Amino acid sequence: MGDDKVKKEAMEILGMFQVLPRLVVFDLDYTLWPFYCECLSKQQMPSLYPHGKDILYALKDKGVNIAIASRSPTPDIANTFLDKLGLSSLFVAKEIFSSWTHKTEHFQKINRRTGVPYKEMLFFDDEDRNIEAVSKMGVTSVLVDDGVNLEALRQGLSEFAQNSSSSSGKKNKEKRLTDSSQSEC
Ligand SMILES: [Mg+2]
Repeated sequence: MGDDKVKKEAMEILGMFQVLPRLVVFDLDYTLWPFYCECLSKQQMPSLYPHGKDILYALKDKGVNIAIASRSPTPDIANTFLDKLGLSSLFVAKEIFSSWTHKTEHFQKINRRTGVPYKEMLFFDDEDRNIEAVSKMGVTSVLVDDGVNLEALRQGLSEFAQNSSSSSGKKNKEKRLTDSSQSEC
């Protein structure tokens, strides 16, 4: 019953915004779930932060695609956990690999795989350095404090709407600049 309430509220929040991102990208560790998955074994049963699952399902119901960008050194454990939680098939892209970059490589791959421009993505992560690097690519990026929750969703959608309205006049120009400087396509 609690779950229904969270999903309903997430749907209401999504309904408040005229402009929605085309793709919402989530970090895993300490964003969707409250642990580093390299510290757990595949045999364990993971769980998400309390609002996590309902937010994912609400986005899907609204027609917003979702993806994963994780620097986990144990993608096998991360993928096993996503399978156990029944979530794997929800994501249009799952980029889970360790890297020296702060997820810029992950987003280049997500961009190539989905065709969604950076400006039309929203990203949630718990680490400053990732937020900083990815927002420079043009992605609206939101730092989460205690995992993703309804408040973070509301904040993210609000920042996304602000960014789209402030850039709408020079959108095409910015998009060209962003594409040529950040993407290898
Ligand atoms: Mg994290």
